[in-house]
Amino acid sequence: NLEVGIVGLPNVGKSTLFNAITKAGAEAANYPFCTIEPNVGVVDVPDDRLWKLTEMYNPKRTVPAAMRFVDIAGLVKGAAQGEGLGNKFLSHIRQVDAVAQVVRCFTDDNITHVAGNLDPLRDIEIINTELCLADLETVEKRTERVQKLIKSGDKKAQAELEILQQVQQALSDGQPARRIVKDDETAAVLKELFLLTLKPTLFVANVSEAEAADASANPHVAKVREYAAHEGAEVIIVSAKVEAEIAELPAEEAREFLADLGLEESGLDKLIRASFTLLGLMTFFTAGEPEVRAWTIACGTKAPQAAGKIHSDIERGFIRAEIVSYDDLMATGAYSAAREKGLVRLEGKDYIMQDGDVTYFRFNV
Ligand code: GDP
Repeated sequence: NLEVGIVGLPNVGKSTLFNAITKAGAEAANYPFCTIEPNVGVVDVPDDRLWKLTEMYNPKRTVPAAMRFVDIAGLVKGAAQGEGLGNKFLSHIRQVDAVAQVVRCFTDDNITHVAGNLDPLRDIEIINTELCLADLETVEKRTERVQKLIKSGDKKAQAELEILQQVQQALSDGQPARRIVKDDETAAVLKELFLLTLKPTLFVANVSEAEAADASANPHVAKVREYAAHEGAEVIIVSAKVEAEIAELPAEEAREFLADLGLEESGLDKLIRASFTLLGLMTFFTAGEPEVRAWTIACGTKAPQAAGKIHSDIERGFIRAEIVSYDDLMATGAYSAAREKGLVRLEGKDYIMQDGDVTYFRFNV
């Protein structure tokens, strides 16, 4: 189960955003087997296609895909030295698959800023420095090991040492490891080290209520965008306060509230979808009268492994997959019509699933 960790300095709006996440939480009945800890929020992945399929099939129930957010509070300057229980928080970050870093871009004189004044780039740098320092320690430990291996005559170790030295240099310059992965060899070495700065990252700019719909005049947001662009990272604009209010409302009122603010969708939905993409995930559907359901798989997953998400028996006995793309299904109006037009394909065990595939697996019991 893939997770996104929410990090940020104190008082930037993490808890407010995380509360919105838990309030908007996924239907617990859909996930009877996952225990939910207090700092974990499970949300539905918004996907219009699922509701269009529901209109088409009129099933007994509809189950969206879900994903998990973890609230990782307490990251402060000095964390890498163990200050403020810092190491514990760093180890929480190690366990997540991607990072959403909340940065404060709202002004509010009543709410103290931990570092004195509003300056999101400095905040990003404070966190980046802590993560780089922690990674440096990891890289240095590994370097010592590898040097011993070289002494004992391990020829392969030399190549690794060179990579480690490059990474060490980059981290010392405050460059996150994710920025320096250029080739497969480096990627392989770094993957083994579980570096914090290797995690895919996006930035959440928390703006004031008035800027929720349009933050283009906010100079802090512009700076965050510029920073993020350097590493091709995404910036999601939210107003955590607005999100917290929306999460309290019934769906219909929430839609009206968003419309009043001039928003097409909530910041939270934007964040969820961006996180889903950041994790390298995609969706396929199963559709029938009992249930229309979205399933989550990693991009590049083959048909039998996708089937295994539903049940290990279906993977084991996999014969083939009957697949129609969501777009073809919608264009023809019904599964039977898509089949008549030859748009329902039979795919074998090497088929790589595509986002939006509507799938029926055939298998031996
Ligand atoms: P955390 O320490 O990062 O978890 O920050 P909190 O979520 O506790 O927020 C710190 C304070 O900022 C709280 O008083 C929030 O109500 C306030 N806050 C959070 N988001 C916003 C926002 O978008 N606008 C304003 N004006 N205040 C906010």
